[in-house]
Amino acid sequence: MNRYYVDLHVHVGRSSKGKEVKKATANNLTFENVAYEAYRKGIDVIGVVDCISPYILENINELIDKGEMVEKSGGGIEYRGRQTLLLGAEIETHERSGCSSHSLCFFPSLKHITDFSNEMKKHIKNIWAFSLMSRLTGQELFDIVEAFGGVYMPAHVFTPHKSFYGNCCESLHEIFDDRSFEKIPSVELGLSADSMMASQLSELDGKSFTSNSDAHSLPKIGREYNIFEMVDTSYEEVLKVLWGREGRRISANYGLNPKLGKYHRSYCVICDKVIKGEPPILKCPVSDKHKVVVGVRDRLEIIRDRDYPEMQSRPPYNYQIPLEFIPRVGPKTIDKLIDHFGSEMKVLHDASYEEIAEVVKEDMARNIVLAREGKLGIDVGGGGVYGRIEV
Ligand SMILES: [Zn+2]
Ligand SMILES: [Zn+2]
Repeated sequence: MNRYYVDLHVHVGRSSKGKEVKKATANNLTFENVAYEAYRKGIDVIGVVDCISPYILENINELIDKGEMVEKSGGGIEYRGRQTLLLGAEIETHERSGCSSHSLCFFPSLKHITDFSNEMKKHIKNIWAFSLMSRLTGQELFDIVEAFGGVYMPAHVFTPHKSFYGNCCESLHEIFDDRSFEKIPSVELGLSADSMMASQLSELDGKSFTSNSDAHSLPKIGREYNIFEMVDTSYEEVLKVLWGREGRRISANYGLNPKLGKYHRSYCVICDKVIKGEPPILKCPVSDKHKVVVGVRDRLEIIRDRDYPEMQSRPPYNYQIPLEFIPRVGPKTIDKLIDHFGSEMKVLHDASYEEIAEVVKEDMARNIVLAREGKLGIDVGGGGVYGRIEV
């Protein structure tokens, strides 16, 4: 069995020809640039979640025709003989109560996802430019993904505005029938949660947890990722890992300290600040009338059915603080470090203080090492604003 770095939630914003498929994303966020960035960072498997846009499908077909990428026999698209890009989509669904949630789905081949894309044209108003927004419920989307041969998993499953537990339900059984629930292998934790938090829900015991970047720009790829133990990087193997079958497994999650996530604690929109104190905080102490965005930590306090996390069968969840969060470390320094050490992961986890201090100023090197050791204070995030490292 081999160990691979896997990030299952990365967006593309443009086709190579410049057609915009996702708003508010950088011009350079194309399928091929995502592949190159994964190569540069040493991420072996990338789940690309805007592939149902016909512009992107056309783009992938061109890259294959030019010989720059190939379809793998076990599913997925291979780049430079090393990286695998999984063909996927992130789709928003709406329950009858009006709440909305995001889900990820992946398909083994271009043929599969092209057929799925054609079906989704009936359920998405403008699949060319907004492939996210559907008119379906979670259950309806599940049924279609299954019928077209894909795998389905709820995305950033606790975030306040766009997730099942965040604003739709206290149990996934309220959304999915029992048969469908059993066929969901995994849920995505999101940046503001970790395995310790999620394992306080007993209904998730049979499901693996993934930690992914939800990157909307190249630098954010790999800010959260998983170590998958599997034979190779094909779609089939990834699926076995998600199910924990035939000795394949997730052996570690790496993610932000959830306190750095944008939705960790409750936030008052009127006072414009995170509300600190014992969770759950559901109201602003200044006024009951103030609108509050309930944090993931606070929401979990309401819906959990365990007092303590049940981590026995879970892989370790390791906190990492990406370079961009570290005080005084700017984009130029990050490039310099990655060029020197080969990948951000090497800088974050392997390089010693002495080695880093040879490349950048001593105070930066010190902050990188203190962040790794969890010795820097965190000003907690909420309401859409990331947490910050305290200096
Ligand atoms: Zn996303
Ligand atoms: Zn307030």
